[in-house]
Amino acid sequence: MTVLQLGDISVQRIVEHEIPVYHPSEFFDEATPEAVEPHREWLEPKALCPQTGRMVMPVLSYLVRTRHHCILIDTCVGCHKSYSDPPEWHQPHNEAWLNNLVAAGVQPEDIDYVFCTHLHSDHCGWNTRLVDGRWIPTFPNAKYVIARNEFQATASENGLYFIENVQPILEAKQVVLVDMDYALDDEIWLEPTPGHTVGHVAVHLKSGSHRAAMCGDLMHTPLQLAEPGWSPTFEYDMALSTNTRKTFLDAHCETDTVVLTSHFPSPSVGHIVSRGNSYDFTYV
Ligand SMILES: [Zn+2]
Repeated sequence: MTVLQLGDISVQRIVEHEIPVYHPSEFFDEATPEAVEPHREWLEPKALCPQTGRMVMPVLSYLVRTRHHCILIDTCVGCHKSYSDPPEWHQPHNEAWLNNLVAAGVQPEDIDYVFCTHLHSDHCGWNTRLVDGRWIPTFPNAKYVIARNEFQATASENGLYFIENVQPILEAKQVVLVDMDYALDDEIWLEPTPGHTVGHVAVHLKSGSHRAAMCGDLMHTPLQLAEPGWSPTFEYDMALSTNTRKTFLDAHCETDTVVLTSHFPSPSVGHIVSRGNSYDFTYV
């Protein structure tokens, strides 16, 4: 996918990197070698690296241009950040993502809104950048839209993600705290999808009869379409995560909704289809 046109809305991936990261067993209690084996044939090599057995998981943002606004959904790992898990994702001097944004024809000052599906390290890193030893907002003219309960939970932990990625945009008065079902207008709105984190949201786009949904981390790998009951062990609430994922999959299965994923392998975007008692993904 280069640019996906949805009526008057255009959507473009801005990729930070795409590499094999985790073994399925590091993510899911259920992912024993025996349980993964039947899926290897359709997952390899695109979604599961045959050499390492690790899941190929890009880190990416979506650049959304409507008639009125220039919007980013999520901002990847970022540059110079102190956190380091997993180490493969944290390449402290890699500005490839910012270069890719500029190559898409957008300067940081052009961004009107940044929507954060949640505040994990790989989704809000480029919220800020380091200039002369100080963290400043990467997008000086943007409002950063964050679900209020997601913000509160992250603020109360006061960890590195918050200090480096959120505190500086808060001090710059660029944060807009919203309810989990906030609507910017009739073209872009949030859907509460808690489970991965307490305030995790999906971002919906609509123009005429065209629809898309950026699902954030309510699922991480196409393996979860075949095994929708598998939730990562690090979820805020594993049972809630499973419930949210199944509800989302049922709602968009065999529909025209284009699902924009966070970590499915390139091209990362497609439709959810039914496959027996579970689901599959047809890439656009
Ligand atoms: Zn993620």
